[in-house]
Amino acid sequence: MFTLTMHPASEGDCLQLSWGDTQRLHHAIVDLGRTKNYKALAPKLRGLSNVELLVISHIDADHIEGAVPMVREASAPFVPADVWYNAYHHLEAAEKRQASKLHALGAQQAEKLSNGIDKFCWSWNRAFGADGIASVDTPLDGPLLLEGGLKITLLSPGDAELAALKPVWARELAAAKLRPFDPDETKPDAPSGLHPLSTLNVAALAAQPFERDRTEPNGSSIAFLAEYCGRVVLLGADAFPDVIERSLCAIGYSQTKRLKVDLFKISHHGSQRNTSPALLKLLDCTRFAISTDGSRHDHPDAPAIARILINDTARPKKLYFNFDQPNTKAWQRPEIKQAYSYDCIFPGKNETGLTIEI
Ligand SMILES: [Zn+2]
Repeated sequence: MFTLTMHPASEGDCLQLSWGDTQRLHHAIVDLGRTKNYKALAPKLRGLSNVELLVISHIDADHIEGAVPMVREASAPFVPADVWYNAYHHLEAAEKRQASKLHALGAQQAEKLSNGIDKFCWSWNRAFGADGIASVDTPLDGPLLLEGGLKITLLSPGDAELAALKPVWARELAAAKLRPFDPDETKPDAPSGLHPLSTLNVAALAAQPFERDRTEPNGSSIAFLAEYCGRVVLLGADAFPDVIERSLCAIGYSQTKRLKVDLFKISHHGSQRNTSPALLKLLDCTRFAISTDGSRHDHPDAPAIARILINDTARPKKLYFNFDQPNTKAWQRPEIKQAYSYDCIFPGKNETGLTIEI
């Protein structure tokens, strides 16, 4: 068994990978959504055994906020064998490796999760050796192997992305707050001036020029491939597409030698700035998962979905959404589904979140 569950996490992510046989399942938790999401999920997580990994992909509130009530609890709800989270001191170490001359800045409150990891005595970035930085620039002998046979290949971030976050960390978090939202994200108007969902002209949407995400916290996202029994999932966090492209090319993939991926959890909730035509061309993939309730940023963006559909018009595709909301429901139109050969999958009635067989 190998599944990805996209728990309800408002506009963010709270993902659970489960692998193994049903007698002995292993789990990785990736992000904890917002506070209310974690509180709703906590009874399910409490006592969960065989948690081989907890990843906090980056410091945006829609990924990390839920970790704060968790570490305030008297005892840890579960005991992860390792935690991957790049905190301020890791950024400094990455910067040193970059031999950069940026100035050091402080950020006290951002250390809440760091303190919590210490309080629970969890092992931290252990997989990455002495430096303990979850970075693709950490020398590793091939993919990491987790208990139960899950193979992980890190694709993002690099030391450059971590070093670039350092000044932002202080700026965003110095006021004793977690980063509340993506302040840099503004959306270009659709060329026609029409709302992109009003017509869903897939060809026109896909043809909009790609402009990449440049927000430093997203660039610092921990994104990776996870493989079990020959099945592969790409968990994109909110990573930059060019960083993932760079990593895939570094391990030998190209447009003529594409990576077979059974499920791609799209980066940044389907933002049009994080799903590039170039990245899609490196992947042999027909199943795409998107985590967002559409609040705050109106994700997923129609041009991102259009690029996915245009990239592979011939084969049947599946779009998995953990919320039935205006920006996802719009893709249910039968004429578009038929024209571009895809289907949409939503949580069932009375279900929260979506579990997908990888
Ligand atoms: Zn996010």
